[in-house]
Amino acid sequence: GNEKLSWQDHIRDVPDFPKPGIIFKDITPMLADGAAFSAAVSELAEFIGPDVDAIVGIESRGFIFGAALANKLGLGLVTVRKPGKLPADIHSVEYELEYGVDRLEIHRDALSSGHKVVIVDDLLATGGTASATVELVQKLGAEVVSCLFVIELGFLSGRKALSGTKVCSLLSYN
Ligand code: 5GP
Repeated sequence: GNEKLSWQDHIRDVPDFPKPGIIFKDITPMLADGAAFSAAVSELAEFIGPDVDAIVGIESRGFIFGAALANKLGLGLVTVRKPGKLPADIHSVEYELEYGVDRLEIHRDALSSGHKVVIVDDLLATGGTASATVELVQKLGAEVVSCLFVIELGFLSGRKALSGTKVCSLLSYN
């Protein structure tokens, strides 16, 4: 038989993380495998057109793929971070979690009007994190060409939360 593993085979299900009933998609085995990590980043790169000015990575697993992708393409990486991490002037957006709210921040001078960006994260679940990031990018007058994910949990309908924005993912679980 064909024993060659693809990068998808290095994603591990961890039951009951971060809490009972949740099956967490763990990408760390894929990152630890050089061929798998490289193959996934190459697939992400196929979604980036010549019109893109920068990659926006979402803390923290979005930084891993965002940085690798930006560097491969010779593009800059803009970081969207959890509260209190960015040192200079910021814009901040609050978004809903299952219980309570959280916040994401971007440097005000990270992008400007007319810039076209692709937002990158490891996984799309409900879409709350990515839609807050879309909002931050738009606050700076920049344009979101697409949101790009390694994994999409289709049953959580994140695409609905991101309606109006193009969404691409490499691998979808339904
Ligand atoms: P959302 O805001 O779409 O509900 O959740 C997506 C965010 O939570 C992403 O930043 C992602 O890293 C993280 N996340 C939620 N569930 C998982 C999961 O099962 N595996 C991984 N790797 N990340 C997850």
